[in-house]
Amino acid sequence: MNKVHVLDENTINKIAAGEVVERPSSVVKELMENSIDAGATKIEVETMAGGTSFIRISDNGHGMNRDDVQIAILRHATSKITAVDDLQHISTLGFRGEALPSIAAVSRFSILTRQPQDELGTSVKITGGHLEDIGAAGCNIGTTIKVEDLFFNTPARKKFLKTNNTESNKINDFVIKLAFSNPQIAVKLINNNKLTITTPGNGSLRDAIQSVYGRTVGQELLPLTLNDETITINGFITKPAVIRSSRAWQTFIVNGRIISNSMISRSIDNAYHSLLPKSGYPLAVLNITVPKNSVDINVHPQKIEMKFAEDSLLFKAVYKSVLDAVRPDKTDNDNSLGSFAAPADYIKPHYEENSLLIPKKITSAPMTTFTAKASVPQQSHNYSPVNGIEQPILRENTADFDIAREKIYAIKNTAILTQNMNDSNILDDPQSAESIAAGNLMPLGQIDLCYIIAQGEDGMYIIDQHAAHERILYDKFGLAKDRIVSQQLLIHLILNLSPAEYDLLENNQETLYNLGFRIEAAGPQQFRLCELPADIPQDAAENTIRDILASLEEMHTPTPQEIRHACLATAACRAAIKAGDKLTIQQMKIILDELANTKLPYTCPHGRPTIIKFEHHDLAKMFKRIP
Ligand code: ADP
Ligand code: MG
Repeated sequence: MNKVHVLDENTINKIAAGEVVERPSSVVKELMENSIDAGATKIEVETMAGGTSFIRISDNGHGMNRDDVQIAILRHATSKITAVDDLQHISTLGFRGEALPSIAAVSRFSILTRQPQDELGTSVKITGGHLEDIGAAGCNIGTTIKVEDLFFNTPARKKFLKTNNTESNKINDFVIKLAFSNPQIAVKLINNNKLTITTPGNGSLRDAIQSVYGRTVGQELLPLTLNDETITINGFITKPAVIRSSRAWQTFIVNGRIISNSMISRSIDNAYHSLLPKSGYPLAVLNITVPKNSVDINVHPQKIEMKFAEDSLLFKAVYKSVLDAVRPDKTDNDNSLGSFAAPADYIKPHYEENSLLIPKKITSAPMTTFTAKASVPQQSHNYSPVNGIEQPILRENTADFDIAREKIYAIKNTAILTQNMNDSNILDDPQSAESIAAGNLMPLGQIDLCYIIAQGEDGMYIIDQHAAHERILYDKFGLAKDRIVSQQLLIHLILNLSPAEYDLLENNQETLYNLGFRIEAAGPQQFRLCELPADIPQDAAENTIRDILASLEEMHTPTPQEIRHACLATAACRAAIKAGDKLTIQQMKIILDELANTKLPYTCPHGRPTIIKFEHHDLAKMFKRIP
């Protein structure tokens, strides 16, 4: 017998099922999308045991006749495209013709379907890919598909499933997203005989959101719109009163398709958190339309990712739409939110480039006068004026004393900063001028308690203190040879978790251990945190773990390196000094020196810039000293 042979149809379908049908929620996704493609205005989903024992999807769409059904259950059978070119302007959600045969290969599967013009419908039963029965049957117009005992004949896949609770949460999350992407469809989800989701299907996204999350959330929605030449965005984002620790409740719809995209998430974060303190994620539903030929949807078997021809345009568009939504009305007296925002296109994001960022467009800013504080001894040096020399921060007489003290803990707690803290005042250091010449930066002061202004050999630099410190800590943590140095918590922190969060912690216990977090199971839905990295203030412990969970939750089958990166980035973010932390010149100097020693000084671990340069030439141009 030859060694090489073509696999039989059923085996191929089982293999394909591994890609398309990862878990019960992927079955729900494929079947609901088919219902939408069939023009349904009502879709009802019923599940039992997290979808592992029973899933039923009923729609009132255009149904199939007997011949169509027979073909539909074959691999690569689709009514939606005929040739590759059609992919360029596809308007249906499905096109690969893989879902039905794949699902039927790994479950007890049945279809009941009738077209409006037919008197009788068709019933089909398939078990583990084998056609058991097909015949005429009386039924409503539309299609009902039942999927029972999913993965009954592929035990390895079944083992991979999480608890029923987790699987049912994933279904819940998806049905919500799908309802939001189609407010004109009345969607119902019945889970274990309980109605959990119902939307009116009246075309209003606001009503759909409100019917899922209730009136309180409904009242906090800010509408979001953007009409660009090529991109339009509509949707809602919540005010800071309604935020959560997970991004799971953000829905991105591009050309009608629900996708996950870390760039869009980041863009929302950047816009939202440039105005509001970073303590969670807003609910966001973004309905984005781009030219069909500018995206590739065929890059993922479950079509949950997309490739964009021009992702920087999309990034900017999302940023602007969110910023416009969150920025208070110009006529509004309360300017406290918007006044911090930087113009969206101020900096061209050139993250990969291994050169410092040079602003392309400089808006004229009102003159700010630096004034040395009366209590600050005047010093003679080349770099005046300077703010806050040798002032012990804890004695600073500010109204925000308590907040300041808390934050300073984070600074003090940071080994890098403290270890160098006793260095002599750099401004008295005769080497200063030389060290600038050697490529070092000389800090001049701080603006908005957020940015460090510095003089370098070739011009002026503005450094985002939080982003810079994040980068330093990220590198430092990442370089730790063994385990990251940890501190014991005297009182263990008990974390109450959702089933999904519990699974995530359980699965990543070892990675977290190596990163300095020691966690132990404490109960059915509880973990206790016993140790955390020495650099993270103890009062930030819970938020750090929650942030890590949130970023793990949004990753799609991450690699161990990606998990490590996410955990490191979060830990660095939490341990780093924040915007609003007052720094002494020495502390600024340490940050700048340490930053220069990192491998990727130009961006923080999340990809935001850390440093912007204005060269002599740029300054001279701005002041019209040169043409
Ligand atoms: P695809 O959606 O990629 O075309 P599927 O395997 O999901 O592939 O479905 C195969 C075909 O079966 C579809 O192209 C469609 O013609 C038909 N079909 C599937 N589900 C439904 C439904 N709920 N109502 C009407 N037709 C359906
Ligand atoms: Mg389909």
